[in-house]
Amino acid sequence: MQIFDKLYIGGRWTPASGADMIDVFNASTEEAIGRIPAGGAADAEAAAESARNAFEGWAATPPAERANVIRKIADGLKRRAEELARIISMEVGMPLKLSARIQVGGPIAAWEAYGKLAGEFAFEERVGHSLVVQEPVGVVACITPWNYPLHQVTAKVAAALAAGCTVVLKPSEVAPLTSFLLAQAIEEAGLPIGVFNLVTGFGPVAGEALVEHPAADMVSFTGSTRAGKRVAELASRSVKRVALELGGKSASVILDDADLATAVRATVNACFLNSGQTCSALTRMLVPEDRYQDAKRIAREVAGAFTLGDPLNGATRLGPLASAAQRERVRQFIRTGIAEGAELITGGPEAPEGLAKGYFVKPTVFGRVRPDSTIAQEEIFGPVLSILTYHDDEEAIRIANGTLYGLAGAVWSRDEGRAQRVARRLRAGQIDINGAPFNLAAPFGGFKQSGIGRENGRFGLEEFLEPKSLQLKA
Ligand code: NAD
Repeated sequence: MQIFDKLYIGGRWTPASGADMIDVFNASTEEAIGRIPAGGAADAEAAAESARNAFEGWAATPPAERANVIRKIADGLKRRAEELARIISMEVGMPLKLSARIQVGGPIAAWEAYGKLAGEFAFEERVGHSLVVQEPVGVVACITPWNYPLHQVTAKVAAALAAGCTVVLKPSEVAPLTSFLLAQAIEEAGLPIGVFNLVTGFGPVAGEALVEHPAADMVSFTGSTRAGKRVAELASRSVKRVALELGGKSASVILDDADLATAVRATVNACFLNSGQTCSALTRMLVPEDRYQDAKRIAREVAGAFTLGDPLNGATRLGPLASAAQRERVRQFIRTGIAEGAELITGGPEAPEGLAKGYFVKPTVFGRVRPDSTIAQEEIFGPVLSILTYHDDEEAIRIANGTLYGLAGAVWSRDEGRAQRVARRLRAGQIDINGAPFNLAAPFGGFKQSGIGRENGRFGLEEFLEPKSLQLKA
């Protein structure tokens, strides 16, 4: 049991203003594994003030010095890598090996990359007779979800610090423990007092207090579209800059000349990664009508190989979801899919055999899903794949673009040029062509209701900068 009973504010571990605590659960056993403070408005206020006070000093710190501290934070995370991966596997449900690589290795690489970028980035340029300087936007409230807890925190905090901003982090109350380990690494690295502050608690309480606080210049939010809309509304009252990374309903478009087995296999794997709790998950698989039977057979086989179990067990390929609420939500979507007439190829809403405890959902594949049905339109955030069919490329593109979201997608074709042409017509922020891997340096973010702004790499750094023009006489 990891009990963190203090918040990190103004460079000190500080008791929260109230006595309420929040339990954190092991998603496989449903046992409490941690406890954190339920911070309130007074804590958010203290943290925002502390970030405000630290801002001028940090903004004026030469980028090379900022880079040094950021690299030390990466080192601190490396020393804690094993523990971080175990915590995330327990909180979120991702198999341990994958957690170590994706949920911890990725963020460490990102901290290192921001250390490098802070030292190399051109914060000034000449535009005619003007000198354009890129200044940090100010105090940033960072609010993050539970599905890739350290990754999402890193995409905001590392980039903001590199830009010269100071931050208050409000991580998800469902998966908050790694944020405490990050705060420890930050403390060890010697980041100046008040530059980073950690306040835990519930979104509508601690989160909203931060969003509304006059000391915060920007809100960087990742989470559901519902909460993102609320955050944007509140932030607009004081004209704060808002970056939103929200939900998705991404399509994997398998063209008629694609290697079907490879494409179906990769799509099912991408859909079920992290038990389907991935905002950019490929949850809609589009196949040509005359390949449907083959696609269905392959998808059933691939889904059948996802052995359910505790993510700390090496044989597990599919862990639980992060919470009981999420488990119920996903099972309800499966019932809706059946009620709306989709073909249940494998899986279903019942508890998986032999797993009486834990927030498990059966790996589920639906076929013949209508493009306008609930399971084809709404983000499910569980191991549920929908197969849709189409007759020609135009129809495939129309279906792929036919949701409120636009976060990610994939295109498969033996003809790379054709795949690129289709990819360019998809209204989404990142499209994988023929299974090409994730790129941490490339911009990540959404079109339409998937969000505003981009994270990762140079594009992520620029989100936290304000350009200022100095008009020069000579
Ligand atoms: P959520 O919206 O419930 O919570 C996200 C964060 O916002 C949490 O820290 C929560 O406490 C806080 N919050 C909730 N209500 C708030 C409010 N009124 N004001 C301020 N803060 C508030 O989302 P979740 O359930 O933690 O995460 C799952 C969602 O996140 C999914 O919809 C998923 O698609 C999305 N997501 C998007 C991305 C992306 O990059 N686009 C990445 C990961 C997750």
